Amino acid sequence: MLRQYELVDRVLDYDPKADEAMLNRAYVFSMQAHGSQKRANGDPYFSHPIEVAGILTDLRLDDETIATAILHDTVEDTVATPEQIVKLFGPSVGRLVEGVTKLSKIEAQTESERAAENLRKFLLAMSDDIRVLLVKLADRLHNMRTLRFIPKPEKRRRIARETLDIYAPLAERIGMYEFMREMQTLAFEQLEPEAYESITRRLEGMKEGGGDRIAKIGSGLKLLLGRAGLSAEVSGREKHPYSIWRKMSERHISFEQLSDVMAFRAIVPTVDDCYRALGIVHRRWPGVPGRFKDYISTPKRNGYRSLHTAVVHAENARIEIQIRTPEMHAEAEYGLAAHWAYKGGMRADRQVAGGGSGARADWIQDLVEIIDTAGSPEELLEHTRMAMYADRIFAFTPRGELIQLPKGATPIDFAYAVHTDLGDQAVGAKVNGRVVSLKTPIENGDQVQILRSKAQHPQTAWLNIATTAKALAAIRRHLRQTEREEGLKLGRTIYDDIVSRLPAALGPDAMGDALKRLKIADEPALMLAIARRTLADEQVMEALMPGSGACESGRPPPQAGAISIRGLTPGAAFDLATCCHPVPGDRIAGLRRPDAGIEVHVISCRVLAELADRAEGETDWVDLSWGERSDGATARIQVEVRNVPGALGILATVIGQHRANIVNLRLDNRDAGYHTNTIDVEVHDLPQLMRLLAALRATDAVHTAHRI
Ligand code: MN
Repeated sequence: MLRQYELVDRVLDYDPKADEAMLNRAYVFSMQAHGSQKRANGDPYFSHPIEVAGILTDLRLDDETIATAILHDTVEDTVATPEQIVKLFGPSVGRLVEGVTKLSKIEAQTESERAAENLRKFLLAMSDDIRVLLVKLADRLHNMRTLRFIPKPEKRRRIARETLDIYAPLAERIGMYEFMREMQTLAFEQLEPEAYESITRRLEGMKEGGGDRIAKIGSGLKLLLGRAGLSAEVSGREKHPYSIWRKMSERHISFEQLSDVMAFRAIVPTVDDCYRALGIVHRRWPGVPGRFKDYISTPKRNGYRSLHTAVVHAENARIEIQIRTPEMHAEAEYGLAAHWAYKGGMRADRQVAGGGSGARADWIQDLVEIIDTAGSPEELLEHTRMAMYADRIFAFTPRGELIQLPKGATPIDFAYAVHTDLGDQAVGAKVNGRVVSLKTPIENGDQVQILRSKAQHPQTAWLNIATTAKALAAIRRHLRQTEREEGLKLGRTIYDDIVSRLPAALGPDAMGDALKRLKIADEPALMLAIARRTLADEQVMEALMPGSGACESGRPPPQAGAISIRGLTPGAAFDLATCCHPVPGDRIAGLRRPDAGIEVHVISCRVLAELADRAEGETDWVDLSWGERSDGATARIQVEVRNVPGALGILATVIGQHRANIVNLRLDNRDAGYHTNTIDVEVHDLPQLMRLLAALRATDAVHTAHRI
């Protein structure tokens, strides 16, 4: 374990202005907080955060990050509180420690690839400061290094799996290849012990068999470049076992068939030198087709730059060669973290521009630069990671599965994101255990449980609540379906009525002949055309029984046999008119509109009368009845209230007592004595509305109350 002074010295080495006192305080605080806790291998627990801090000093991270690493498990695992951390180490370290603690709570199980991808994004979204993520990755790396001490094999495998699925890809995404490789190797060793064993053994054997081939080829390459006047630093390695294994399983080939297991890297001073070196290499050895990649002129999306090529070196031994500058190399190994340290003036040849807050500023500056220069959204995403997820939220199902949604999404969106059936049957939601309305926006990290009922169907009103395309499409599809079914039912009823008005009974061929005359494909299409009023009743009569339509005109519609709208859905087969707000109990009539549902009016409605004058034939009308409908409807009432304190409250109470719901309330005008409110109330039927109005009038605060 690193001693206190060793750790602090390491930081001061690359950042002389680091807050030495704070680092010392953090060391002592963490040691005392973890006390006698032990790791699985019997070491004091405290050695873990110190090693994590040590890993981060390799990345030359600032004093706040190092302090965060030292403290990262204190809030989660000891009696230390977030308040204490803020008080002793400042708000910035406090925030970072809180961030790491939050991430540690989401070490969820990852059964599916989708869940893993979601969890990766979630971790990114939650780490609004990249330093949080760096501490988390170093934490995981150290846990992997000490994984073998955990006694239970299932636990070891679970941790290894999670590392491979989540943390290694995260390290890759932010360009920390060194972290990624070590995590993959350690996880691979755990998950595929036999494959790991066999690949490592063969790699060893190769080394022994061919003398030190890697050293030989490497020095040959250095010599070749040197003769051309290029001073290159050349290093060679076998590819790491996990990437060999992955290649073997992806291409279904054996180790022997895998031709290039050696990779070399030449580091040359400038970009120009990179291209010169490439030319020299290609003149000496034949290149392997399709393996040359120029990531200098076209960097990878995470900013990685280098030249890659593969050549046939000797006797069919393919080798891979990467050519890059020292700066590119540092970035490639440690990603943005290195980039930051590099630009922060921590190179040997430049004086340190500023530790502590100075380094912070550089980091922020970097982010700003990246945001400014990123060419595409994807590029920005790869670069800035955190900020891009600002418009996304991540919520959990009760089983812990993560659902990704746009910001502002509601439980309806959530339900449809989980499953279409769940969306269709949603009646309510519990967010973090509390019942909320389906309109409530979901917050990041919420646990959402959808309450469902088999009797439920998608509602027209949901179109205003849903925000995702998936939910909207599903709701519309369902509404269209309902509309069709109910249109068929309604059309059939009206058709029967039309037939009853014919002067004679229909012959057996009447329907078939009518369809031909009307050029309509089949019976359902005819019923829909009747319901939607794309065909006038006279036309239908003419088609069924030529000559019969004429005697229809001018005749008032029969009063008997009103069509019941019971069981039909408002918004699908019919709409309740917004001019007169009919409620069950009102005498109603329906206006059939071309290509739309029937509009239901109160029979005395003025608007209806006007429309009737304009309407061409009486048959645009259908007589309707409520049947035994019990769905209720919205009525509009106007209430004049005395200007006394609490008047609106009294109003609401009276309406509530009569079991009516206020859907909408508008204050129309207000003078010294009275104000007028227009209120939309949802009532069961007409008698209920009448009782409500009477009760309102009986209230002292109410001057007048009537329906409009
Ligand atoms: Mn830890």
